[in-house]
Amino acid sequence: MLTALFNQQLFTTIHYSREELRGLRRRGASFVCPHCSSVLTMKIGSRNIPHFAHMSQADCELVKGETLHHLLSKQLLYDRVSSLHARVSLEHYIRELKQVADIYVKTDTAEIAIEIQCSTIPISEIVRRTHGYHRQGITPFWILTQPLKSKKLLSLTTFQQAFIRYSPHLDYFLLQFLPDRSIFQLYSHLLPVSGTAFMSAAPIIIPVSEFTLPPSIPDVSVLHPYSLSHWYDYRTKSIYNRIHYNNARTDVFLREVYGEGDTFLYLPLYIGIPVIPHGIHIRNHEVEWQYYVWKDCLKGDSISEESVCRVLDRRIAKGHIELRSLPLLKRDEVIKRIASGYLRLLEQVQVLSKINDTYQLTEPWSCPDHFSAFEKHKHDFFPKWKHILKKL
Ligand SMILES: [Zn+2]
Repeated sequence: MLTALFNQQLFTTIHYSREELRGLRRRGASFVCPHCSSVLTMKIGSRNIPHFAHMSQADCELVKGETLHHLLSKQLLYDRVSSLHARVSLEHYIRELKQVADIYVKTDTAEIAIEIQCSTIPISEIVRRTHGYHRQGITPFWILTQPLKSKKLLSLTTFQQAFIRYSPHLDYFLLQFLPDRSIFQLYSHLLPVSGTAFMSAAPIIIPVSEFTLPPSIPDVSVLHPYSLSHWYDYRTKSIYNRIHYNNARTDVFLREVYGEGDTFLYLPLYIGIPVIPHGIHIRNHEVEWQYYVWKDCLKGDSISEESVCRVLDRRIAKGHIELRSLPLLKRDEVIKRIASGYLRLLEQVQVLSKINDTYQLTEPWSCPDHFSAFEKHKHDFFPKWKHILKKL
């Protein structure tokens, strides 16, 4: 921790030089934890960030997740934010919530709590803290500082996915802070290809010296990660994985596909198309949830946005479809947006036609049942899909 009580006043190490701090320590200055009132020791090495530590492993809110990485993040962000705003405090205790915000900012119009998260905590804890802040009229701003696995695809744990946010300009995005390099990396236009892997645009680098609150995004043009061939490859891979790693007798989804007499390998390509951007809320692969929509609703003759919503809601309730935990996003209307997004795509690829508020199949449903029938379908379908792709 960087803040302690000294002579009943808040004292922050980052405002003093190492020499000044050593001088205070020599004179036996006594520092106390503002949260639990235990006596603290000052740690001043030659390379670390001078900070306070509890004498014993106290059960104190301020001790949790306190690593050098965390201290450095706090210091860098505090320095930057206090150069922009007048009223900024470090390790700010909020009495009503009995919790400590890493950095607290009061502007003329808003109160903002910056929460820097290095260690993995339960998502329910993020939800609880977020709600608490909102109740006090404080806007929380969560910052993820964990390293991310990123090669061709960005691989995100469930915890890391909890930091995904949305803006109309960036679609779904993830902001990561790298204190060792003093930069933020922003991965925009996230597009899931599995429960944990995402395509994203090349990350935008924001030096901490350009960070603002609320963050302003540099106006750079980003290349959308989506391409028809990528999509087709990942869709095919997902189907093969499903067949390879799952048993058709125990896998609820496969059982339904085969029970209907459909061939999983040759499902029409309009089952499993990305509903950009809001489809990210569903954790299951598009092939899976869209197949349920087909089976429960689109094969029948009353097709509407409401009926698709009902299918999704019912399948979620049964546990067949799982929504991602994205606690920083509003969930209202998500299902409706996904349903309307999918129906609109099906209309664009001429699988459905719209009459007033309902839809009709342009041709009766048929699932190709052998390779050459599927190849023919692919041949017919791709040209229509290419045309949609241009509008993304
Ligand atoms: Zn304490």
